[in-house]
Amino acid sequence: MSGVFDAVIIGAGPAGMAAGAVMAERGARVLVLDEQAAPGGQIYRGIEAMPAARVAAMGADYAAGAALVARFRASGAEYRPGAMVWQVVPGEEGHEVWFSIAGKSRCVVGKSVLVAAGAMERPVPVPGWTLPGVMGAGAVQVLLKAGIGAERLVIAGAGPLVLLLAAQCLALGVRPLAVLDTTPAGNFAAALPLLPGAVRGRGLGYLWKGLLLQARLRFGGVRVVRVTDVVLEGAEAVRAVSFRAGGQVQRIEADIVALHEGVIPAQQMTRALGCAHKWDEGQRCFRPVLDGFGNTSVHGVLVAGDGGGIGGARAAAQAGVVAGAEMLRRAGRVDGVGRDAVAGPALRDLAAEVAVRPFLDRLFRPAGLPGDEVVVCRCEEVTAGDIRAAAAQGAQGPNQAKAFLRTGMGACQGRICGPMVSEIMAGARGVSMDEIGYYRIRAPLKPITVGELAAAGDDGDD
Ligand SMILES: Cc1cc2nc3c(=O)[nH]c(=O)nc-3n(C[C@H](O)[C@H](O)[C@H](O)COP(=O)(O)OP(=O)(O)OC[C@H]3O[C@@H](n4cnc5c(N)ncnc54)[C@H](O)[C@@H]3O)c2cc1C
Repeated sequence: MSGVFDAVIIGAGPAGMAAGAVMAERGARVLVLDEQAAPGGQIYRGIEAMPAARVAAMGADYAAGAALVARFRASGAEYRPGAMVWQVVPGEEGHEVWFSIAGKSRCVVGKSVLVAAGAMERPVPVPGWTLPGVMGAGAVQVLLKAGIGAERLVIAGAGPLVLLLAAQCLALGVRPLAVLDTTPAGNFAAALPLLPGAVRGRGLGYLWKGLLLQARLRFGGVRVVRVTDVVLEGAEAVRAVSFRAGGQVQRIEADIVALHEGVIPAQQMTRALGCAHKWDEGQRCFRPVLDGFGNTSVHGVLVAGDGGGIGGARAAAQAGVVAGAEMLRRAGRVDGVGRDAVAGPALRDLAAEVAVRPFLDRLFRPAGLPGDEVVVCRCEEVTAGDIRAAAAQGAQGPNQAKAFLRTGMGACQGRICGPMVSEIMAGARGVSMDEIGYYRIRAPLKPITVGELAAAGDDGDD
């Protein structure tokens, strides 16, 4: 499987699978790399192996992924599971993509590289969030998909995934003790002017789905409470969650607490590649600067899916088709007219999918920044107050904060703390997010062993 590919695609989620399929079906040589054991990405994780009853319990949107996975499998795209990409080196003739499988690193070259690496949950630094038993809602969802239940579960946060997770738990026989809705008071009024735009395209369907999920929770007897001031309590592990509701501090004992404040693009790879990024105030995150076909500022590097801005799974698949069409053109397999013929319908569907986003983004916009006492960089145990103090002492941005405090230098390589460190520094210095910027990200993108580096070779060398 060595050689040069028309495209190397990083990520076999909806975006990567759709891009790979649309290219391979038209005769292009495509390689799709993903660190997971099977295609599906974040949303359709494990769908091929899941019993039908469990698929049904996860909901119609999850079940819809089976057709995309089957199409991808049948398309002729080459696919490598368990392949963790740790570096991409842009070049004039093609881009080197370095990845590690089973302890050995390999390199392939793509005339185009598509980063379809998806999103990550927005970090939620609240007091006690580093305790064992506290996790992202996505992690609880992964446990559910793997068939592992959770005792004494509380879900705290805001956004569609909070409702969806609670409903999925109910359907699988795990009743959350409570859903603590942290949506800030005033968000609905602020989002209301955006409602007319949200009912266009497929927006009405998504809003209706949200109402149905709320009804399902109510009829399922799940307690849903509007709260502020969430605090996780415990010594060795989380034991309870306290919060303020109706003017009173309340407390629920819990073994697992799922936190969630929305998702943001995973930017480590596009940052390491040197792609230009811009702060998106609406989605409150950095995103790579893209043209209408997914091209970044780095020649031959494209982004599709949630990694380019949060749009959801169906939007990710449409963006994958658009980027696939552009990569067919770049590989000389179609001309501009042929590209537009493939991309046109997908672009229309994409616009219909994302019509609801501005409303949802405003409605579920998280509250402000953490207080001084809250740990922000969990690897190095640096608090928000430490970061503000570093700014007061002259640290200009996240990279100087690294030098002052070692933020972002732990095992997660800044993935978790990066977005929050930038926001805290911008707030402390009173400058814009684009001015404050983000960590400089360098390879390896994820930790690898020296042995994996030493065993590096061309793909196909054994
Ligand atoms: C935690 C979480 C839970 C979510 N749950 C839901 C849900 O229940 N319902 C819903 O509608 N939407 C959900 N979403 C949103 C949904 O997952 C996305 O809209 C959709 O999956 C985006 O598709 P994508 O192809 O852009 O990325 P993804 O589906 O995230 O796929 C990206 C793929 O890239 C791979 N990858 C990333 N980095 C590397 C690397 N360095 N090397 C190799 N492979 C790599 C990952 O393994 C992954 O398979 C969730 C998002 C998150 C972050």
